[in-house]
Amino acid sequence: MRVLLAEDDVMIGAAVHDRLRGQGFAVDWVRDGRTADAALVGEVYDLLLLDLGLPGREGLAVLKGLRGRGSRLPVVILTARDAVDDRVAGLDAGADDYVVKPFDLKELEARLRAVLRRRAGRASSVIEHGRLSLDLASHELRRDGVPVPVSPREFALLHALLEYPGRILSRAQLEERLYGWGEEVGSNVVEVHIHSLRRKLGTELIRNVRGVGYRVPEDPE
Ligand code: CA
Repeated sequence: MRVLLAEDDVMIGAAVHDRLRGQGFAVDWVRDGRTADAALVGEVYDLLLLDLGLPGREGLAVLKGLRGRGSRLPVVILTARDAVDDRVAGLDAGADDYVVKPFDLKELEARLRAVLRRRAGRASSVIEHGRLSLDLASHELRRDGVPVPVSPREFALLHALLEYPGRILSRAQLEERLYGWGEEVGSNVVEVHIHSLRRKLGTELIRNVRGVGYRVPEDPE
């Protein structure tokens, strides 16, 4: 999952950035509205975490611009406790949810999961595929009910593939899902993660589509 975090408060931004990265999200952090606009036009994200009080361009204007371009990107706004009118304006402008500062990082994560789940049309935070289940809340992978230890990035990679079984994701698309700006990405990291997952889960699950990318079969055996 690739998240754009637009937040000018350094303490809050750093805390959210570190927390989400630790959970396997790729996070790009921008600190003003204009850079947020540019990133939203130039990159593909799974979610926008948007502070409304941004320098350069107000968060609400960023949100209206995004929806004005027809984007359905899930958006969670970050607002101050007393800013009820801002929250209402944000929701009316097309935000999916909001979190009131100061917020607990656990609550923020739960709200992100809920928004992503609703967008994917799922009622629970567990993705099932054949013998596998991927719990997006506890970050646990199980096979036949038995936990399989995986790294946060292996988990994120599997999540990307299992979200829409059958869909092919290129190596570049997977890299984008796993790594944010400024993170060192080795030339074959995706292959390394896939190799490791195959070692843990068998070679049948993640298929190479020669010259295109990777997918998991739509119908698990
Ligand atoms: Ca702010």
